[in-house]
Amino acid sequence: MKEKLPLGERPEVKIVGNAPKELKEGLRKIYATLFGEGHFTDLPEDLYLRVREKEIQKEQLDRDIIRACNDLTNEVLERNGSQSFDIPERNIHILPSEFYHQVHPTMGKVPAATLMERQAIIIDDEIRKKLIEYASSILHEMFHLKGYYAEESSKINGDKNEYTKSKYRLGFMIFSLSKKDRQLKGIHVKSFIGLNEAIVSTFESTHLQELLRRVAVPDMDTKNFPLETSGEDSYVPQKKVFKVIVESIAKAQDMTEEEVINLFYKAHNDGHILGVARLIEKTFGKGFFRFIGTMDKGEKSAGRVMDYLQKQRRLLKRK
Ligand SMILES: [Zn+2]
Repeated sequence: MKEKLPLGERPEVKIVGNAPKELKEGLRKIYATLFGEGHFTDLPEDLYLRVREKEIQKEQLDRDIIRACNDLTNEVLERNGSQSFDIPERNIHILPSEFYHQVHPTMGKVPAATLMERQAIIIDDEIRKKLIEYASSILHEMFHLKGYYAEESSKINGDKNEYTKSKYRLGFMIFSLSKKDRQLKGIHVKSFIGLNEAIVSTFESTHLQELLRRVAVPDMDTKNFPLETSGEDSYVPQKKVFKVIVESIAKAQDMTEEEVINLFYKAHNDGHILGVARLIEKTFGKGFFRFIGTMDKGEKSAGRVMDYLQKQRRLLKRK
């Protein structure tokens, strides 16, 4: 088993692209400091000051929930042979609802968000009123934050010595390289968004019960609480697709479903997705891994992938 990294450290963030070595090294170093004293200094100064000023002080229950989420995610990382590391409590920010939506206007109704480039999680204070949803959201975001992360830094066309800085990999998600972005008129394309959320949400729903067991939630009858249907219950169609994928691989490759799910968790955390890709293609046929990559957060694309999966399953059964 790999030893957990000391508090304040995270696995190295890989930087790809054609930017000079020193620049990429600089970016890597920034990430190395984000869990330490340098946390948040990469934010524009005005926003940094406002987050500090407006952040709601955590109570004991908030701290207990954060610690339990940190422990639970680490236990899964360790069990799968991935590098475990702690997310310091101060990297989690509970923000007044209105301000939360100002900091991250694209978040819409999502009650919590992971800011990968800041190695932080922000939470809408509004969701704290519903404790189970609140705890569930932190568990979800923490698994995102412990996912594999890589960026790209490349030279911008022209004479100036300017370089891009953009996401390249995040968990299972793959982002287009900047050269391709230019061809696509600046659109930063992502793939495997749906599968990534399905994996993280599956982790969330299967560990929520255990999380609530570890946290003394006051005035809450967790025993009689319908946990399966609680929480944001996010990404249901994507989770269903993932479930079929897991069941089919387990059957075809003579593995338990838990073993298959753990392979996906591990790939999400280490970034080595090729092994899982091969298993998927062995089970469903060539080209299918790429096809899953087209599944996004919407219901339509999940439905399309599900239709294909069912068809393939029937074909496989006839063999
Ligand atoms: Zn998510």
